Amino acid sequence: MSELKDKLFYKQKHVHDVLDEAERELSEAYCAKYMDYLQKARTERLAAREAIALAEKYGFHEFDRNAPLKAGDKIYRCVQGKLLLLAVMGTDSLEKGVNLCAAHIDSPRLDLKQIPLYEDHELAYFKTHYYGGIRKYQWVTIPLELHGVVALADGRTVDVNIGADPADPIFYVSDLLPHLAAKQSEQPLGKAIPGEKLNIIMGSCPLKGEEGDDRVKLGVMKLLNEKYGITEEDFLSAEIEAVPAYPVREAGLDRSLIAGYGQDDRVCAFAELQAIYETENPARTAVCILADKEEIGSVGVSGMMSEAFECFMGDLCDKQGVKLTHCFENSLCVSADVTNAFDPTWPEVSEVRNNSKLNYGVAIAKFTGRGGKSGSNDASAETMGRIRRIFAEANVAWQYAELGKVDEGGGGTVACYMGNRNIATVDAGTPVLSMHSPYEITAKYDCYMTYKAMKAVYASK
Ligand code: MN
Ligand code: MN
Repeated sequence: MSELKDKLFYKQKHVHDVLDEAERELSEAYCAKYMDYLQKARTERLAAREAIALAEKYGFHEFDRNAPLKAGDKIYRCVQGKLLLLAVMGTDSLEKGVNLCAAHIDSPRLDLKQIPLYEDHELAYFKTHYYGGIRKYQWVTIPLELHGVVALADGRTVDVNIGADPADPIFYVSDLLPHLAAKQSEQPLGKAIPGEKLNIIMGSCPLKGEEGDDRVKLGVMKLLNEKYGITEEDFLSAEIEAVPAYPVREAGLDRSLIAGYGQDDRVCAFAELQAIYETENPARTAVCILADKEEIGSVGVSGMMSEAFECFMGDLCDKQGVKLTHCFENSLCVSADVTNAFDPTWPEVSEVRNNSKLNYGVAIAKFTGRGGKSGSNDASAETMGRIRRIFAEANVAWQYAELGKVDEGGGGTVACYMGNRNIATVDAGTPVLSMHSPYEITAKYDCYMTYKAMKAVYASK
């Protein structure tokens, strides 16, 4: 009877049970590299910059559309410092299509407003406007660091980086003490911390020798001026992000988990990167996309809906006299984005048979969306079959993923924008606990299997 069950039933396995000792070590070694990347990739710009630095070590160079391009070449293009496209040219014509993996490198956070600095009751603050789907109550009373750029009126750009170095100060948003939070505590969770109260404390000491109003604000502005050469007007042309100042750490006594900010979706971004770095002379051209703006709808020049993607792929196709539409028609894309790991503490939001679980491998999703698959790519049965085959041939441990119960909520990825381009697309990524929180959790085995999955896609025929 059990033999018949083995034959006929679909059974998912813990990755630990399918790996031998040698491969468990490979998984550990991969995760050490990933954790190092995640620690540096605090923002989309830093994620792109670190990816380029590593890519150049692996022999990638910036793509020049006027230079010759041949099989085996490793190239990249970075758009606005925030959308990164890498390719390893295959021996096949681009007319036969390419193998794409598309992740995003932007994560939910607090952005500074364009006129951010003010003083209130002798405390200096930055006003913020949150970016992406945050749970606002999670962003108070945690250490924050600041990263970004200021574009000066003379055309120069200055990098801002304060708080990541342990010798730096950190920044902070206050919350009420429980003694005085009776009214706030009666509010629904989503309303207890209004967006306009996410103000970051920047200082409390008046500038020496100053009298009157705004002495603390002036002290802060003077420090910024000394460090970066900026004045208050320069904030108008700045992008400065406050992100959690938490180090990437192993989690759990058995060290099987990774805690870190921004794993949605840098965990898949790094899997794609490590996979394409190691891709040599593929048959089909391999293309790695690290997109920006996914968390606010994939819009803008650096988002996945942007023509910047057509521009890059069109440049490659022009080199071979191939029509871009024909290349797309024959391409395969894995939209590599995270999904919710089943949380045994909150089982009521998931349908356990279809929800992904920690340590069960890279999670394939046929569809995402909400309220009846709305807004989802909904991969065809044939594309699902193709990805199963690719993963099976490469010994990739995979599982199935549905983001929560029907009618419980939902989410989206870049998959629909790739599908809209007539590219066969399927979602596959790493399960995450506490997604979009300041400190997200993944399982090492799943991170490793996501990397193996991306490698298999790049190598597929
Ligand atoms: Mn995501
Ligand atoms: Mn997200």
